[in-house]
Order: sequence, then C-alpha cells, then structure tokens
Amino acid sequence: MKLPPGLKSKVLKNELASKHTTFKIGGRVPLWIEPINLDELLKLLFLLKKEKKKYFIIGAGSNLLIRDKGIKEVFIRLNSAYFKTLKLQGDRLIAGCGASLNSVINFAADNSLSGLEGLCGIPASLGGAIYMNASSNGVAISDYIKSVKIIDRNLNLKTLQKKDIGFSYRHSNFKKAIIIETALCLKNSSKDAIFKRKNNYLLQKSKTQPLACKSAGCVFKNPDKCKISSAELIEAAGLKGASVGGAKVSGKHANYIVNYNKATAKDVKFLMEKIKKVIKKKYNINMRKEIVFI
Ligand SMILES: Cc1cc2nc3c(=O)[nH]c(=O)nc-3n(C[C@H](O)[C@H](O)[C@H](O)COP(=O)(O)OP(=O)(O)OC[C@H]3O[C@@H](n4cnc5c(N)ncnc54)[C@H](O)[C@@H]3O)c2cc1C
Repeated sequence: MKLPPGLKSKVLKNELASKHTTFKIGGRVPLWIEPINLDELLKLLFLLKKEKKKYFIIGAGSNLLIRDKGIKEVFIRLNSAYFKTLKLQGDRLIAGCGASLNSVINFAADNSLSGLEGLCGIPASLGGAIYMNASSNGVAISDYIKSVKIIDRNLNLKTLQKKDIGFSYRHSNFKKAIIIETALCLKNSSKDAIFKRKNNYLLQKSKTQPLACKSAGCVFKNPDKCKISSAELIEAAGLKGASVGGAKVSGKHANYIVNYNKATAKDVKFLMEKIKKVIKKKYNINMRKEIVFI
C-alpha cells in the first residue's frame, strides 16, 4: 500500500506483534501505524477503505493472543500524545483513549476525583479498557462513563451516550468503531484517601496475581449463574501448573496462563482447550474465553 506523502504518523513495516503484547506472543504485522493526530488517522482510514485493507485497533495489547504467523491486518495504535490528552471540563474528566488506564486513574486522583481506583494495576489503554469493559474490585470502567467519542465503521465521527453502548460483563457493542475519547463522571474525594485506596488495591492485586509474568490477565470469563470463579474451578480441577510447550497455568492465579518459556500462540490455545475439556468433563461447565484471538 502506498502511503500519502508528508505523513507525520509513525509507520513501521514488518513489525513483530510480540513486542507490543503483554504475553510477548505474536507474529509479524505487515504495517503498524501510530497516527499522529485525528486528521492523519482519518486520512489513513479512508485510504485503507479505498484499498479494501482490513485493520485492527490495538490498545496496550494486554488482552490479546496474536497468532504466530500470517497476520494480514494493518495494526493501528493510538499511541501519540494527541490521543493521550487528559483534561478537566466542568465536572467531567475528558480522556484520550490512547492514554494508559493507570495514567487516567492517577490524573483523576491528582485532581481529587475518585471511582476508578479499583481498576489500578490493569495494564490497559483506556480504549481497550472501555472496549472490554474492564472491571476489578467491584468497579467496571463503564460505571463512570458518560459518553464516548468514536469513529464508526463508515468513518463518521460520533459521540455515543453510555446507554447506546450496551455495556455488560466484559462486553460492549462498538461494532468495529475506533474509540477516540471519553467523558468520565467521577466523585469528589480527598486525594490522600484516593491514593490510599489505590495502593491497597494494587498491593492486593500483586499478592494474588502474577503481575510480573508475561500474560494477558484472566484467560476465561467467569461462568454465568455460578458462584464459583473460573480461577477456583481451574484450581479445583487440579490444573494449576499444567503446561503445554512454553505456556503454563499460573501457580499464583489459576485463570492466568503465563508465557514462561518462549510460548507460542498455539501453546496457549492448546492449553486453553485442555482446560475447557477438563472443566466440561468434571463440572459440565462451558468455559468462555475472555482474551481476544487474532
Ligand atoms: C497483568 C494483567 C492484569 C489484568 N487485570 C485485569 C483486571 O483486573 N480486569 C480486567 O477486566 N482485565 C484485566 N486484564 C486484561 C486486560 O488488561 C483488559 O482486558 C484491558 O481492558 C485490555 O486493554 P488493552 O488496551 O490492552 O486492549 P488490547 O488488549 O490491545 O485490545 C483488546 C480489545 O480492545 C480493542 N481495542 C483496544 N483499543 C481500542 C480502541 N481505541 N478502539 C476500539 N477498540 C479498541 C481491540 O481491538 C481488542 O479487540 C489484565 C491483563 C493483564 C496482563
């Protein structure tokens, strides 16, 4: 594909996706683009549409399992300063969706705005957190969303109100839209109290989850209408430590698969299949994947 002359956006050819995922897994991407601003993003999207090229929006790559070879899609990441802008507007926090979720939480805390602390330690971009409706400690990002600015699949810029997004557990219905910016409505609280809560949540998370390992967080959603979590089911089935190739069920949190020794996407998929089969056989429960396969 011939890119327009004078483009200021970052463009990388034949980029290794594994450099951009927390699993450190993923083959080569033919074209990796980090648009410098909205204008160039739109220009590029029109070009991709004209050339009938498929693209994939990647956030911080913390919920992805990217195949080992043969990736055809152009990858777009909102990684420039333009898409990471954070500002206050009246009682709203307006946040660019390329910002990291942790920077949004810190910015809110610095401005005595509370609500998102329970989500600290999730290594997401704000866009990815919104798309996945990330949640933790009884807080979901959607609890505090007022509206979201998107580019829809026809390349129109639109603002969606929360009620139009259909958020539920690890679900939103953006229908291939690109999430650009959001308005968050948070609560006032004392800065000290917010930082204290945040640090406690972080400490708890690091005690119970293998945050320093290469992973994509929980691989399965929790089962519906079942009081027991996926981690508890996997542990009860005796699968802690089970491995395929370089992928292993974490000993710290059984719903995490960690890449402990040059795991491939295939290793992770086989291990997930193995877990699904055992849980189905032992408990007659169908495990649903949480991570996104590409
Ligand atoms: C150590 C660790 C701990 C974790 N803890 C939690 C947790 O407590 N709770 C939880 O919910 N998750 C957790 N996760 C999983 C993961 O961080 C979340 O799912 C997160 O929301 C993914 O965000 P991301 O930016 O990395 O998105 P990616 O993984 O890059 O992408 C995920 C999906 O979002 C889409 N997407 C990303 N950005 C955009 C955008 N701007 N516009 C449109 N679509 C977009 C992608 O196309 C893809 O379909 C954890 C992961 C790790 C590695």
